Amino acid sequence: MPVEPLLRVRGLVKHFPIMRGVLLPRAAGAVRAVDGLDFDIAEGETLGLVGESGCGKTTTGRLVLRMIEPSAGTVHFAGEDLLGLAPEAMRQRRQQMQIIFQDPYGSLDPRMTVSDILDEPLRIHHAGDRVARNRRVTELLDVVGLRREYADRYPHEFSGGQRQRIGIARALALKPRFIVCDEPVSALDVSIQAQIINLMQDLQKEFGLTYLFIAHDLGVVKHVADRVAVMYLGRIVEIADKRALYASPRHPYTQALLAAVPIPRPSAQQALAPLPGEIPSPSHPPAGCHFHTRCPHVHERCRIEAPGLQQVARGHHAACHLLTPIPILERTP
Ligand code: SF4
Repeated sequence: MPVEPLLRVRGLVKHFPIMRGVLLPRAAGAVRAVDGLDFDIAEGETLGLVGESGCGKTTTGRLVLRMIEPSAGTVHFAGEDLLGLAPEAMRQRRQQMQIIFQDPYGSLDPRMTVSDILDEPLRIHHAGDRVARNRRVTELLDVVGLRREYADRYPHEFSGGQRQRIGIARALALKPRFIVCDEPVSALDVSIQAQIINLMQDLQKEFGLTYLFIAHDLGVVKHVADRVAVMYLGRIVEIADKRALYASPRHPYTQALLAAVPIPRPSAQQALAPLPGEIPSPSHPPAGCHFHTRCPHVHERCRIEAPGLQQVARGHHAACHLLTPIPILERTP
C-alpha cells in the first residue's frame, strides 16, 4: 500500500484582488500569485521549490501553513484537511508546522533577547513551566551551535549567520515535523550559506524533519533537495527527483534556469541557452502556456492552450506541449 505523504496539496490557488477607488473600493482584477498547484511531500523528504521573484513560491509556503487563506484547493497534513480546521485547532497544528524566514535581520524582534525569542513560542503554546522552558532554550542554543552565554544578548549583537541560527532555533522550539524554509540562505554571504545548509541537513537527520525549501535558483537546492519543483507564474512547470531534473531537464524554463547556474563543466552549460526578458506580471499572465513570451520553442498552440503537468519519465512530470507523456501509474507530483 502506498505511504500517505506528510503534506498533500491539490488544486491550490491564491488570487489577490486588485482594489481601485478610494471612496468605494472595488475589485478591478486579481494578482494570480498561485494558480493551481498539486504536489506531495513525504515524511523526511525535502522538496525544493524554485523560481524567479514573483513566481508565487513564497505565497505557496505561506498557504500550506495557512498563514494566508487560499482562494481554492486543499492542503492535507498528516492526513488531516488543514483548511477545514477551526482557528484554535489550526493553532495547535502550527506547533508541527513552522517557518524559517529569508531575512534573519528583519524576522527577529530587536527589543527581545535571544532567550525571550526562543521562549516566546514555548510560552504561547504552554510548553512547560519556566524551568522546563529555560532548559529547552539552552537545548535549542546547543543544537544550532550557539553558545549558551548568548542567551541574554540582542539580535543586533550577532552576525547574519548567527541570526539565522537563532531563526532556526525558534522554528525548532516546539519540535515540529515540517518546516517551510523560505530562502533561508539568500541574504547570507556565500561563505556562510554552506554552514547554514549543513546545519539544516544535520537537524533534518537528527529530528526526522520534512522541508519545503524555497529558493530562487537551482544552485542552492541542488545540495539540499530530494526532489525539485520549478514554478513559473503561479504554476509548477516541472517536478522530478533532483538527479533526474539536473541531468535531464525537460521544460524549457528549467533548462534556462540551469543555464544560469555556474557549473564546473562550461561545455555542458553552453548547451543551454540563457533566458531572455523578464517574468510577466502575475496580474496579466500570458494566455495559454504562461512561459510562451520567453520560450525559444514557442509555437501557435502554446499561445492558446495551457499545457498540463504530465509524466514524461518515471516520477518526472513537466508541462510543455513538446513533451510526450508516458503511461506509468505511480505517485503523483
Ligand atoms: Fe515553450 Fe510551448 Fe512548451 Fe510553453 S508549451 S514551454 S511555450 S514549447
